[in-house]
Amino acid sequence: MADLANCSRCGAVFVKGIRDLCQNGYLEEEKAFQTVYNFLKERKNRQATMKEIVEATGVEERLITKFIREKRLLISKFPNLAYPCEGCGADITSGKLCRNCQESFKKDLQIQNELDKKLEQIRQKENSKSNTYYTLNKIIIFSGGVIG
Ligand SMILES: [Zn+2]
Ligand SMILES: [Zn+2]
Repeated sequence: MADLANCSRCGAVFVKGIRDLCQNGYLEEEKAFQTVYNFLKERKNRQATMKEIVEATGVEERLITKFIREKRLLISKFPNLAYPCEGCGADITSGKLCRNCQESFKKDLQIQNELDKKLEQIRQKENSKSNTYYTLNKIIIFSGGVIG
């Protein structure tokens, strides 16, 4: 039996394939993409902002953002086209995160790295401690043997 899923666009039940949309939703999205694409193809529209594109094409910002994230719209060609940061929703023109989120992400990463380093140091200390015990034990056993 075929796998069924709900369309992420209209909720209709459809047979699951490579898309998360029903046939209708897929066609609608393709149409929307063509509309946006045709609008941006015109030289005078290359400088358009997200708001201007939404107003001119009637396509939702969410969908345009999806096209950008899927790299169907190449953001590098449109200097004023900003889309929301995945972290905080601020306008960005490249990557997935704004500068702020990148910084705090880096900081989190740094803290994580430092924690890892400290844990590693503790682990090494414990290791060398148990090594010392081991050596001490050996000496004691050895000297005991000599006395006995
Ligand atoms: Zn649908
Ligand atoms: Zn952000």
